[in-house]
Amino acid sequence: MASGTSANPHIIPEDKPQCVLEKACENPDSEFAPEICGYCKNLSYGMLSGKIETYKENKGLGSPTKDDDPIVMLMNELVRKLLKERKDLEKKLSEKNNPTTQRTEYLCASIGPEKDYAESPWRYELNPKRATACQSVHRKGQLCDSCLEAMKSQHSALFDEYFDPEGIVGFTCVFQDERYNDLQWKKDYTPADYRPLTCERAVRNLTMCKKCQVRLGGEMGTSFDKHGMLLPHARGGVR
Ligand SMILES: [Zn+2]
Ligand SMILES: [Zn+2]
Ligand SMILES: [Zn+2]
Repeated sequence: MASGTSANPHIIPEDKPQCVLEKACENPDSEFAPEICGYCKNLSYGMLSGKIETYKENKGLGSPTKDDDPIVMLMNELVRKLLKERKDLEKKLSEKNNPTTQRTEYLCASIGPEKDYAESPWRYELNPKRATACQSVHRKGQLCDSCLEAMKSQHSALFDEYFDPEGIVGFTCVFQDERYNDLQWKKDYTPADYRPLTCERAVRNLTMCKKCQVRLGGEMGTSFDKHGMLLPHARGGVR
């Protein structure tokens, strides 16, 4: 490409993003076309479905839902195709991993299988707003580098609420987290036979995992709230 000083108005940029989701698409330069743009390709299933609903609302296609609208039909078809591609990729990744060793490659959490974290609000709201294609990751529930960078640059509150700084969904259980080892609640509530490896990821930061909640059977003392989150006075300065 010529590195001229003035823009030639006759040259149409080849990489103009094209998107079927029209105004529901958040790609600032996208133009309508029977395709899904890179931004929208990085959205979770829940978020994509929401965008189709937004499109219908904007077009006054509300209820009863007019699924025979040609654009809605096209969107549904493209989303089906995209999900099929993701499923095939997920299958390929799982086959690639040697069954005798631990699995080491997964889809980025943003585009991960529909059933994964289906009930978590972030699956419906997290939006990398980025066209770079997602890469595979080494842990289930991890965001790829491209999505992680995007979420950090957006200073997304949703990201801070549900992902640790490495971009892995959830947080280390406070019983597993060694930073609290010297605190009294940990000494009082950790049974002698407790093994940190049995912990799951905690859904929120500063919280115990589901298994530990069950283990304590509601005996949270004065250090935790009813959801198993450490109260500020019991955090020992950890944030
Ligand atoms: Zn789009
Ligand atoms: Zn990603
Ligand atoms: Zn735990």
